[in-house]
Amino acid sequence: METVFKKLEEEIVSGKDIVVPDFLKDWLKKPKLNFIGNNWCESNSKKVFANINPATEEDLSWIVMSDKVDVEHSIQVAREAFSKGDWSKLSQLERAERVKKLGDLILEHRAPLAILESLDTGKPIFETFDGDIPRAASNFHFFADFAKEEEILQFKNGHDEHAAFREPLGVVALITPWNLPLYLETWKIAPALMMGNSIVLKPSELTPLTASYFAELTLKAGLPPGVFNVVHGFGEKAAGEFLVSDPGIDAISFTGETSTGRAIMRSAAVGPTRVSFELGGKGATIIFDDADLELAVQETLRAGFRNQGQICLATPRVFVQEKLYSKFRDLFVARAKEIKVGNPLNYSTRMGSLIGREHLEKVMRYVCRVESPMKLLTGGDRPREIKRGAYLAPTVIENVPLQHAMSCEEIFGPVVTLYSFKDETEVIKEVNSTQYGLSASIWTSDVERAHRVSKAIHAGLVWVNCWFARDLRVPFGGQKRSGVGREGGKHSLDFFSEWKSVCVRRKD
Ligand code: NAD
Repeated sequence: METVFKKLEEEIVSGKDIVVPDFLKDWLKKPKLNFIGNNWCESNSKKVFANINPATEEDLSWIVMSDKVDVEHSIQVAREAFSKGDWSKLSQLERAERVKKLGDLILEHRAPLAILESLDTGKPIFETFDGDIPRAASNFHFFADFAKEEEILQFKNGHDEHAAFREPLGVVALITPWNLPLYLETWKIAPALMMGNSIVLKPSELTPLTASYFAELTLKAGLPPGVFNVVHGFGEKAAGEFLVSDPGIDAISFTGETSTGRAIMRSAAVGPTRVSFELGGKGATIIFDDADLELAVQETLRAGFRNQGQICLATPRVFVQEKLYSKFRDLFVARAKEIKVGNPLNYSTRMGSLIGREHLEKVMRYVCRVESPMKLLTGGDRPREIKRGAYLAPTVIENVPLQHAMSCEEIFGPVVTLYSFKDETEVIKEVNSTQYGLSASIWTSDVERAHRVSKAIHAGLVWVNCWFARDLRVPFGGQKRSGVGREGGKHSLDFFSEWKSVCVRRKD
């Protein structure tokens, strides 16, 4: 297969429309079953649902629809594996070997994974091939390296010797969204594994493919049975809810909408079970008069339209200081019109389709509300040359009142609203006016101002003169309604482990 994969990689970057290879077509033809105890399992209900390619609206595959019995089975198997100790009792150094191997396998399978992810999400292959899939691999490489040393704290107090060390939690539930499927699943799987837990993953019902493909890789990496399990299915009153409301779960790491976070928190009260939530956002870019205009335009386009604007860290609100406003607006709109929208399976495509028709309709309900004095500067509809699929051209709107739903709610699509502001005080107030607090990007050449404004903005992540620059050691998460807790580096290890303190009193 190695040469097949290499050839496929060359084909991807060649810029031709990629034809899905036969081995992947055959793989897609088989229904995607649950992965429990290293076995492929039918669902108890025997029901399946169709998985759709949002760019063509054709069926891609069939997915099992798990019910309560399947979820309970997966938790029981995960618990047995945890108690048996083939994984939970290994040293971190021993676990790191296999966790690193998972990263290597993802890189080896980069081409098929990128194709599957693009088929499933509608996002362009340059993003999955150059971004999401390598990042999924680095989640494993990073955590294998970062967590391989056992962390032991020791304190002496008179005759008392205190020691504290990490222990695994047990069985953890991972619930993930559709916008960055394998990327976000592995962001949770890697630290959960490194800390010795057993996992039940419930991927998004809209993007189940790479989770199933990844399960095959865990067999190759030699994970013991029951350590990593996947149950497919829906969220509310279905697999997701059954999983998070099961008292056999020791922790829930969830990424998704704020409203789902509220529902999961209610379900988690059954434990009460520890939770970590990465939720919705309504990020802002702030561009001061002294910014590097060219760079600010370039990065703000990325922050608005990458992944069709379906990134929690996106900055769909762009605040530009008065003097620069019209110059910025004209350049931004001209460049937005140049973005190549089209077939996700072509490496030169810069924007693909949204996740599906239902989501497109939700986005359009906002866009349709443009009325005087608001002004649609570009977009607002599907590109004329594209006949089907959940497409929306890059859309830019100005003069949207700050209290309007378009300014306050998470649209999660390629829709950017522009605002002009007078000064620092005004813009800080305006940026902070939503319920969210995930991300912001500030553009200025005044370092002191950059620090002042960063401090005043309600956001868990602030970038100055850049956007989406990541270091996996950095605490990641949102303020206000954008999250509960932090993941990343030590914070992920803290979430997926329990500290135990032991005190020994010596006689001498
Ligand atoms: P969603 O909340 O609709 O679904 C996410 C997952 O939760 C899915 O697997 C779904 O099946 C499951 N689910 C739904 N209801 C459930 C319930 N009652 N109990 C248990 N599980 C349930 O989110 P989505 O539409 O898939 O993803 C988009 C959202 O995710 C956006 O709001 C985006 O901002 C957010 N997001 C946040 C981050 C972050 O890091 N903060 C990252 C990516 C996406």
